[in-house]
Amino acid sequence: MFRVGRLNPQTVGVMSVVVQKYGGSSVADSSRIQAVADRVRDRHASGHNLVVVVSAMGQTTDRLVSLASEITSNPTPREMDMLLTAGERITMALLAMALHDRGIDAVSYTGSQAGILTDSSHGEARITGITAERVKESISEGKVVIVAGFQGVDPDSREITTLGRGGSDTTAVALAASLDAEACEILTDVEGVFSADPRVVPDAQRLEEVSYEDMLVLAGGGASILMPHSVEHARANGVRVHVRSSFTDEPGTWVVADTPGRDVVGIATDSEGGTGVITIVGSGAAQVATRVESALHDAGISSSVSGRGDRFARLEVSVERIDDAVRSAHDELFRSETTP
Ligand code: ASP
Ligand code: MG
Repeated sequence: MFRVGRLNPQTVGVMSVVVQKYGGSSVADSSRIQAVADRVRDRHASGHNLVVVVSAMGQTTDRLVSLASEITSNPTPREMDMLLTAGERITMALLAMALHDRGIDAVSYTGSQAGILTDSSHGEARITGITAERVKESISEGKVVIVAGFQGVDPDSREITTLGRGGSDTTAVALAASLDAEACEILTDVEGVFSADPRVVPDAQRLEEVSYEDMLVLAGGGASILMPHSVEHARANGVRVHVRSSFTDEPGTWVVADTPGRDVVGIATDSEGGTGVITIVGSGAAQVATRVESALHDAGISSSVSGRGDRFARLEVSVERIDDAVRSAHDELFRSETTP
């Protein structure tokens, strides 16, 4: 795993750096970009050096993918990356303009300009280092720096690369590591990480904190809040990640080093082939698997424990019953906290 050298604090002055990342839904249209500019302005005014990583607007990346498929069924990986990196460039320039209108000195950089160095794997490149020269220079000039997410450059071939779908999270965490940022805020359309998907389980609880390890297991189990690579970067470099809503000012979930939290932190769901997979996550997950299996049985849902590990237990159920199953499992594991 890539580890970074720390930034000399003298080069950025005494103010701390905060990296914020805004995902596609948070910059989906011009009014959302204006709202993000307001948030950035307020945060800047409260005395932070800000580096803002942006995703492409809304479904832009998907649209670019389908546009390519209207041209050819066989695009080269290089040109695909040239195409897809355009999405984030649109957002970064528009956000810079919106900040200029608010009287804020802001500058946008592509991943390559920001010195995000990667290997040569088009479409799924791994970050190998970050120079961030221009980012640091601009910070020291008091500017808000905007960086296009999800992209970098292979320094050997000088080709532009992308980091894989959802890769802006990784850009943000890696930049936060190299700037020794106080925090990396991931601003998104959900209020944080929950004990289960709140769209399926209405009384799912927001977690105040979750460890890198548990977050990785949740992501592996199907929770699509953070790209797993970004969590690995955060863990390797000790970056404190705050997942929170870009629509409210409420605190979200901190993803941090091991916390003395609960034994079972949450439940993720996924489907593999025609099978529903429920992953119970936390250091106590393996011990509760059989209990959950029998609770599901009592609810008329047949399941079988298909794996147990250090921080997880997996149960398989039919895809048709997966929502019922996660509600029953959540009820079994978290009930005592909701009904005293
Ligand atoms: N725009 C890219 C995607 O849709 C990267 C990102 O949003 O993180 O996957
Ligand atoms: Mg995302």
